[in-house]
Amino acid sequence: MTRLLVVGLDGGTDSVIGLPDANLPNIAAVREQGASGTLISTVPPITAAAWPSMMTGWNPGRHGMFDFRTLGIERYSRLWGAGHSSSFEEGRDFVTSRRWSGAAFWDQAEAPVAILSVPMTYPAWEVDGRMVAGFPLPDYDRNHTEPPELAEELPPLLDFADRIGKLSDRELADRCLALISQQREIVMRWLREGRHEVMVVVFQSTDFAQHRLWKYLDQPGHPLREALLEMYRGIDALVGEARDLMGEEGAVAVLSDHGFGPHARTFVRSDRLLADAGLLSAGGEAGRGEHVTRALRRAPALRRVLRRTLGRLPAGARDRVAARATGVSRVDWTRSQAYRIPLYPPAEGIVVNLRGRQEQGAVEPGAEYEQVRDRIIAALEGLRDPDTGAPVVQWAKRREQLYSGAHLDEAPDVVALFDPAYKGASGLGDLVEPVPQQIIDGYSGVHAMEGIFAIAGHGVPAGVDLGERSIVDVAPTLLALLGRPVPSDLDGAVMAEALRDGVAVREGAGSYQERAAGDEPALSAEEEATLERSLRDLGYLD
Ligand SMILES: [Zn+2]
Repeated sequence: MTRLLVVGLDGGTDSVIGLPDANLPNIAAVREQGASGTLISTVPPITAAAWPSMMTGWNPGRHGMFDFRTLGIERYSRLWGAGHSSSFEEGRDFVTSRRWSGAAFWDQAEAPVAILSVPMTYPAWEVDGRMVAGFPLPDYDRNHTEPPELAEELPPLLDFADRIGKLSDRELADRCLALISQQREIVMRWLREGRHEVMVVVFQSTDFAQHRLWKYLDQPGHPLREALLEMYRGIDALVGEARDLMGEEGAVAVLSDHGFGPHARTFVRSDRLLADAGLLSAGGEAGRGEHVTRALRRAPALRRVLRRTLGRLPAGARDRVAARATGVSRVDWTRSQAYRIPLYPPAEGIVVNLRGRQEQGAVEPGAEYEQVRDRIIAALEGLRDPDTGAPVVQWAKRREQLYSGAHLDEAPDVVALFDPAYKGASGLGDLVEPVPQQIIDGYSGVHAMEGIFAIAGHGVPAGVDLGERSIVDVAPTLLALLGRPVPSDLDGAVMAEALRDGVAVREGAGSYQERAAGDEPALSAEEEATLERSLRDLGYLD
């Protein structure tokens, strides 16, 4: 029997691993002694979509997680940003594991499993073994586990996740380092018990830290650059210890859900592009609200005060202010065919104003819908940086070219991938605008499409370059390595080169035993607020 340990780094990237002074001998050894490549994330490359795809081998259209919240593409209020609380309905907007629980590769294991801190596994579901739900959680004072009594055996692992915005860079680094030590100790304790066939641990610290600490990477000798490298070294040490302990029958995979890179330097307003292409109709001149917004861009301190004040307004009033400030209140829906819906960058979503779906839909389903999508794609693909002439968009696709499954109709009608130097923005102001330095300083690192994958040990040949693979290929590959049938309807494929001759890939008859996706229970207002706070602090809601 192969014993498998999966070490997940949220946001783990070669941009850090490959630094000359990174000093990560054990991850290097997994690569040399096994198979490794670049793991291309989901579109969008966000934790909420990517980890479920890793665990299930399903695309986001099938597991239904495109973001931490449902996108709500039928609502105009999403126009000014997924972060705007008032654009969400009470409850039900946060997606939870109930959409797909039971369909993770470890649910197919034949012997006990141990699952520690894998994102998007709240609520934890029943497994043969133990599971500690990962980020995000509805409250961080305790662990959320299956079986429930496991919670008390462990320290509350993510107890700072809803206070990240209040921590200094140094405090954040210290908390992230401490979390890695705690998780490392738990994994080694469980491994020594020796009763698990599959163990999966995800380190959230790399993601939490890189968002804030990326700016130190080009400052050699800076203590916070060193702290970030120490996080990787702590994980690297676990990889070494675990391989020693697991011995001949052990296989260790090191992977990430997405990569990381510097924040974009230029905002691009897709709504302005659509308006210029005659697809979004804004009546009248720019209003006073838009002029005020433009002026405020140069006054970060005042902007913070205003933001706090706005936060105290009732949702309806906040909605109206946001609509004024971005120019959305000027949109004439009866003459508008399309508008932007934010996705995590570098992805960008465009929604068609469709009759029968949108409240004031202006586009007929069928031929007209397709023509509008053609025009959106042409506008996006023709988009050039007016200052440099550089193409802004890598590609723009119809949603069905990217996704399939029961949740396809929740995806924006057109999805584009921007060059990472550009980030989509809402409103009808100028087409491009430099990102204020204050934003880049506060949120210096963002996700990138290119994650990592490496595996070595029992059943894996040495020295294999896997090239570029998709994150949905992980689950079928791990199932094959474990000798379990690979369901024939997965969106990913087995990475056959990562398996030694003699590891026979058994094709399963059909699907996973899918658990009936129950009605997702609404979270309480307090739980929603906690989730929202922890996501906002990490920049996922702006
Ligand atoms: Zn992140």
